[in-house]
Parts: sequence; structure tokens; C-alpha cells
Amino acid sequence: MSRMLRPHHGMCFQFYEGKGYSEDFTDHMGRIIREMEADPTQQVMLKVETDIVCENCPNNEGGKCTTQDKVKRYDEEVLKACGLEDRDEIPYADFITLVHDKIIKTGLRSDICGDCSWDYICRGKELPQ
Ligand code: SF4
Repeated sequence: MSRMLRPHHGMCFQFYEGKGYSEDFTDHMGRIIREMEADPTQQVMLKVETDIVCENCPNNEGGKCTTQDKVKRYDEEVLKACGLEDRDEIPYADFITLVHDKIIKTGLRSDICGDCSWDYICRGKELPQ
């Protein structure tokens, strides 16, 4: 069975450095990333909804993100840039490679989620264009 991932988390995973909305949230996110990386051929289902990362987030109110409009926009733009659609299933490693090649390497990341409160972390790690 494939694990559910909201598409924009494919960007967050690549810049994760142990910071987040709460200690519980960041520990959980780190654990999810380690599990994914330990089994990169596993299928993920890309869904524009709260996912396995959102489970422990203080912004998750009864299964709905409090910044829903913003994160939905991030998700939809990630899918579009990668040539994917909501509910597509793809091996985890292939998805991460697509996000890297189509969004991070091309410098598109800040156009998609430059208004995120964690943008400074990702911006600091990107290669100069
Ligand atoms: S802020 Fe929203 S999208 Fe991000 S992890 Fe929390 S609930 Fe999920």
C-alpha cells in the first residue's frame, strides 16, 4: 500500500534540518524522512490533503490545515511543475528526483513557496543561480 504525501512536502524534505512548528512535529517529520529514505522504491500517493507529515502538526485542526489555501497552492504548483496530477502514484525516489530537477535546480522553488515562514532555511541552502 502506498503512503500518502502532499506534493509540496517533496520540497520540504529536501531542505529539512530539524526545525519546525513544534518539537513533536519536527521529530515526527525527521522520522518520516528517514523511513522514506530507507525504502526509496516505495510507492507514494500524491494527494492535495493533510498527509503523514501533517499528523503531528499543530496547524492540523481535525484533518484540515489552518493555512489550507496557501499549502494547496504549493501542492498544485509542485504537481504542475513535475507533470503530475493529484492522486498519482509514483516511487518515492522518482518523485524526489522530479522535484529536485524541475523545481529546485531550475530555481522555481521560491516562486512556489517563497511566502512560507520557513523560506529562509531553503533559500540559504539553494545554489546561486
Ligand atoms: S502547516 Fe499544514 S501542510 Fe504543513 S505540515 Fe502543518 S498541517 Fe501539514
